Formats: sequence, C-alpha cells, structure tokens
Amino acid sequence: MSDNRLIIFDTTLRDGEQSPGASMNLAEKLEIAHALADLGVDIIEAGFPIASPGDFESVQAIARDVQGPVICGLARCNNDDIDRAWQALCDNPRPRIHVFLATSAIHREFKLHMAKEEIVRRAVAGVERAKKCTDNVEFSPEDAARTELDFLAEVVEKAIAAGATTVNIPDTVGYAVPEHYASIIRYLKQNVRGIDKVVISVHCHNDLGLAVANSLAALKEGARQVECTINGLGERAGNCALEEVVMAVKTRGDFFGIETTINTKRLYPTSRLVSRVTGIQVQRNKAIVGQNAFAHEAGIHQDGMLKERRTYEIMLPEDVGLQQTELVLGKHSGRHALRQRIRDLGYHLDDDSLQKVFESFKALADRKKVIYDADIEALAEAVIHTGPALWTLEAVTCNGGSGTVPSAAVVLWNKDGTLHRDASLGDGPVDAVFKTIERITGVFVKLRDFTIRSVSVGEDAQGEAQVEAEHNGRILRGRGVSTDTMEASALAFLHVINRALLRQQQKMNPQTEAVTVT
Ligand SMILES: [Zn+2]
Repeated sequence: MSDNRLIIFDTTLRDGEQSPGASMNLAEKLEIAHALADLGVDIIEAGFPIASPGDFESVQAIARDVQGPVICGLARCNNDDIDRAWQALCDNPRPRIHVFLATSAIHREFKLHMAKEEIVRRAVAGVERAKKCTDNVEFSPEDAARTELDFLAEVVEKAIAAGATTVNIPDTVGYAVPEHYASIIRYLKQNVRGIDKVVISVHCHNDLGLAVANSLAALKEGARQVECTINGLGERAGNCALEEVVMAVKTRGDFFGIETTINTKRLYPTSRLVSRVTGIQVQRNKAIVGQNAFAHEAGIHQDGMLKERRTYEIMLPEDVGLQQTELVLGKHSGRHALRQRIRDLGYHLDDDSLQKVFESFKALADRKKVIYDADIEALAEAVIHTGPALWTLEAVTCNGGSGTVPSAAVVLWNKDGTLHRDASLGDGPVDAVFKTIERITGVFVKLRDFTIRSVSVGEDAQGEAQVEAEHNGRILRGRGVSTDTMEASALAFLHVINRALLRQQQKMNPQTEAVTVT
C-alpha cells in the first residue's frame, strides 16, 4: 500500500482493558466506542469474544450500535475462537477478524510446544477460516519483535497468501528499540512476497518507554496502521498512546509525509472519558493530554509566549480540544444546554440516561451555585456506571473524632428488593463504613488504595472517592461522587463490591484468562 494516510487501530477496549483494574462494563464500553467513532479512528478492536460471555456481549453490542469505524474482534488461530468472534461481529457492516499466533522461539517452546511447521500450518488455517467469514482479516504473529527474521517472513508471507489483508507486527513484550524495529519492517518489505498489497501494522508496548517512538520509526519504513490506546492504557507499562502518535504525525508532517484524518479536537475529551471510566488517572506531565502539557511557568517562556506563541509552543491547546476557559452551568441552565455540554464532553447518552442526568443536575444545582464540567462528568459517570448493581446504598452514618470509638451504620438495598442494615466499629470512620458494607454483602476485599478529592472548585464542591481493592487476586476500582464525602466513600466501596460480584457471576473462561495476548 503506497497510501500516505495513517490508519488508526484503537485497542483501548481490548488491550487497554487488560490493564489491571481497567475492566469496564457494557455501558462504559459503548460510551468509549462511540467516543472513538467521533474521534475518527479507522478500526475499533472491541474485545476478545471467546474470553468471556461479557466480552462477547460487548463486542456484539458495539458491532450493532457503533457506526463509522471498522469493528474488529480478536481470536486465536482455532475454529472455536474464530467462529465466536464472527458470531459477535456479523451484524456489523464493516467487520474485521483479527487472528493471532505466537511465533518467537521462546513462545513456541514454552507456551505452545509447537514446531515451526505446526505454527505455519495453524496460522494459515486460522486466516483461511476467518476469510470464510469476512474479507477483512488481520493476522498477528505474537512476539514478532523477538522472532527469527527468516521465520517471521515465512509466516507473514503464508498468512498473506492465505488471505490476510493486514499484517500486524507486534512487539508484545516492549523489547524493541526504534532502529531495530524499523529494520524488521524494512526486512519484511524486502523479503515477503505480496506484502505491498496488504497494510503493514505495528503494535508496540511501552515497557522501555519506546512504544510511540517504535511505532513512528515503523511508519517511516512504510507501515501504515498503528495499533494504540487512549492515554497509552494497557498491560504493564501500556500500549502506544494514540494521542501522541497522532499529534507527532500531524505536527511533524514535514518529516513523516503522512496524513491523519483523526479529529484531533476530540483527543482531550476522549482522554478524560477513558480516564474517568477506568479510574486510571493521566500523569500530569503526560504528552498531549496531561494537565501540564500546555502550561508555561518560567517567566522567560511566558514573556516569549506573549510576544509570539510559536516561540515556545509547537501545537495549540485548542488543536487537541483543551478548553482554555471553562463554560459553567447553573441553576437556570436548561436541558438543551446540558445535553450539548454532555456531548462536548464526549458522552453519548440515550434519552433515558439524559433525563436521569438532568434530574440529578437540577438537584445538584440546588445545593451548588456553579456547576463545572467535572461536576457534569461525575453525574454522567454515575448514570453509565449504574450497571447491573446487586447492592445499592440507602443510607450511611458514621461517628469519628478523638476520644470516641469510630463506628458506622449502613443500610443497603439488595437487587431482590430486600433492605439490609448493620453496624460495626472500625479503626476510623471510613474503615467502619467499609467493614459494615463487607458484613452486609458477605464480600470481603483487601483494600489497596483509598483517595478522596474534590471534583471541581469551591467550598460546595463535590467530593470524589476512589477505592482500589483486591479480590480473588484481581484488582478492582470503584468511584463514588457526592457533596458528602462519607457518602462518596461508601458509594466507591460499594462499586468495588458490585464489580467483584459481577465478576463472580460472569466467571471468566479459565482457559482464555491465562492466555497472553499480542
Ligand atoms: Zn498488546
């Protein structure tokens, strides 16, 4: 392909979701998928359908609901995986099946116990099977960056002959460095028959902090598809950050000679949405979307900036959708203004959900003079977080202070309509609340982190509590927002408990849970 357009393959919902504690419910995934469509990504990898019933459902819902991008599902090179992926995708007008199989010596020997010939045979069979379902088939030799070059070329060539239309070269473990990774792409371009008829894709992990640099080096060699995630979300140190690779290609068009059709003004809102939904904050000095990415403190810089922005600024904050002045809403703002603001912030709520947000907005406006974006985001979150919750909070009271024994009383509704109440002592009032919730629900977790902060500014600001806890070896995160910090804490903890219960119900398929994925 000689096309000079950057193809963005977003895998926030698949590889990004594999990041510890980033698991999302169906409504949250749909929100993000709609935001990615607005951003203009070319392909959304919506999930790994065979991994669990929850994964299947969300890929199917996205395939049915989200228009614009190609919707892709992941599958190993076996019939069950591929058929399941196709079942989830078949209602979409532009489906893609992404099949993968590890090729490196270490994976062949220790994970797959397969000889080279067996790998080639299975890769070809996988691509052929997927090709029977759809024309749009992507093949990934997992751990390609550590695979012998001649064998990698052989597998890729056979996958293309079998019908793959995109070949992806993953640096699964984040081992590559830019010149080395570029040389792999160059080698494949020179040694693989048919490679100029397919799209070359790259998939880099950030273990050495080089995921974006490696992806850019590969683009320079003729790769055109970059697999990436919003905020660089992903396992371990994460994946290539979508916003960084897009802005590098755009800002340095003079160097790359590649165009991007991403609507860059949606980068910042989409980044906020993903960090709020997953509870994984963006570091302050993160390129493009960090809080300080466009802040100039030094006097000499400020002076230069006032005279001519370009002295110290290579991109404009507006270009990535960062609003310099925040619009505020208040008591008299109407439904239409709220709806518009919610859309601008990247949410796609249906009429029912909008109505719920509008009601809580009115209630909040009675207690709070000015409503900021962060407040609105918190209200929208509350609606999409309300997944299939088993337990909901009715009331919480607690006692603390020096000279008393901290205690709490909690009342919870169970989904079956029954009301449950209990009380207990604790090391502090928050601890007492959490212990009481554990006693009522019968779910006990190991608390790893608890933070509370205000979402917006002012004395009447809402408090946001975040809880990170461990349950059955898995990290779960929960959030709660309220003008009362104790209520926010109880809501956040209950969110974690509900997630733990949901996980137990869905019972991940144990076979696939242990599989490392590209
Ligand atoms: Zn990956």
